[in-house]
Amino acid sequence: MKQEDRVVVVGSGIAGAACAATLRERGYDGGVTVVRGEDALPYNRTAVNTTMLSAGHSHVELTLPEAQTPDVEWLARDEAEALDPARREVRLASGKLLRYRALVIATGVRARPWPGSACPVPERVVTLRTSADAARMRSLLGWSGKPLGRHGRVIIMGAGFIGGETASLLSGAEVEVDLVARQPVPMSDRLGRNAASWLLERHNEHAHPHVGRTVAGWTSGEDRVMVRLDDGRRLAGDLLLVAAGSLPNTEWLQGSGLDVEDGVAVDPSLRAIGADGVYAAGDVARVATTPRARRTENWASARAQGRHAARSVLHDLGLGEAPGPFSELPVYTSKMYGTKLTLLGETGAGLRQTAIPGDVPGPPTTVFTDERERLRGAVAMGVPQFEDSLVEAVRHRIPLSGLLPAAAVGKVHN
Ligand SMILES: Cc1cc2nc3c(=O)[nH]c(=O)nc-3n(C[C@H](O)[C@H](O)[C@H](O)COP(=O)(O)OP(=O)(O)OC[C@H]3O[C@@H](n4cnc5c(N)ncnc54)[C@H](O)[C@@H]3O)c2cc1C
Repeated sequence: MKQEDRVVVVGSGIAGAACAATLRERGYDGGVTVVRGEDALPYNRTAVNTTMLSAGHSHVELTLPEAQTPDVEWLARDEAEALDPARREVRLASGKLLRYRALVIATGVRARPWPGSACPVPERVVTLRTSADAARMRSLLGWSGKPLGRHGRVIIMGAGFIGGETASLLSGAEVEVDLVARQPVPMSDRLGRNAASWLLERHNEHAHPHVGRTVAGWTSGEDRVMVRLDDGRRLAGDLLLVAAGSLPNTEWLQGSGLDVEDGVAVDPSLRAIGADGVYAAGDVARVATTPRARRTENWASARAQGRHAARSVLHDLGLGEAPGPFSELPVYTSKMYGTKLTLLGETGAGLRQTAIPGDVPGPPTTVFTDERERLRGAVAMGVPQFEDSLVEAVRHRIPLSGLLPAAAVGKVHN
């Protein structure tokens, strides 16, 4: 087989792995080469702050089934450094050149480093994105080789999904957690007021939240980190975990002609805008949807997009049906303080919130509607899964009045 006959996938997270596996499942018999930015074979990244950090599981135990797909070439760790779409060539950091028939970009995102800082991050200021990050945190906390931590003090800057989940997990392992959050009610922009208020109560019970505050500075010693908040308060801990959002991994695409402002811009079939034979999937992809292009960061969407990109590749090579536009609703599931949290579709800022009375203890499900009262998303806590009728209502953006009886619609607030 000539090198030009292969599909190159850059990135071996769930999106890249699902793409490679789908190409084979659907009978593609050309070469499939995956460029790996990490030493590990594809593993479950959602476990980085759960079983990897708190229980010390290794990436080997959490390897994805897609990694066993036959006849996929998983290159040894290397990084894509440049793309030349005219020559259909990717250059790797090792100097290797990969010619491709089709290229799928699945390079994900990385943790946003210490905001505004150009200085190197000292040892006790960490981020949490990879299995190596989890192992490093465990080692700094002196937990290596032990099943559970059960001691230490961790300061977390940022109370979004990763900061909040990690606070919940560490406090469950009897670690003292200081949680510094800029918002007075963390995550109210994503979860809505009901669920966010419930979550803040749990943070208050189990951790030490410092809300409406940010980190103004820190000094890191050999075995402690000292953090100064913007109100002058000082905190001391074993580690400062910076959980301040993420940045798409697109630097290597600068100069390629692709639109890489906040991720790789793709059309609804996940074809990159600006180059033939190039596709993107997962956290790095900014998908053209109505009313605006959007990047989503969640496990289910990354997997579904990886599969969808493979089908678009096969179609464009004349080897399969057109998959049509990618239309799966984003679903983010998580567990905080023992309660399942599920987000469906679009939620949060700019949308109106309506609480739907239910019979599950805890905050009611909140649905989110746009300016025309059409359903756009929902957030539930403690509910095993959304009713199919609600999922369909969000998918088809039906008016809220079609979902709720008039009495409940009367509860609209915001
Ligand atoms: C700690 C944590 C907890 C999470 N929990 C949840 C959860 O509970 N529920 C949920 O739905 N989602 C969760 N997520 C989000 C979810 O894990 C991601 O949305 C998903 O893993 C994204 O997959 P991906 O394949 O697009 O990107 P990634 O998994 O980020 O994979 C991208 C890969 O590309 C590699 N790469 C980057 N640049 C290059 C390059 N130039 N060359 C070669 N390789 C490169 C990277 O090293 C990485 O291996 C969590 C994420 C984290 C970090």
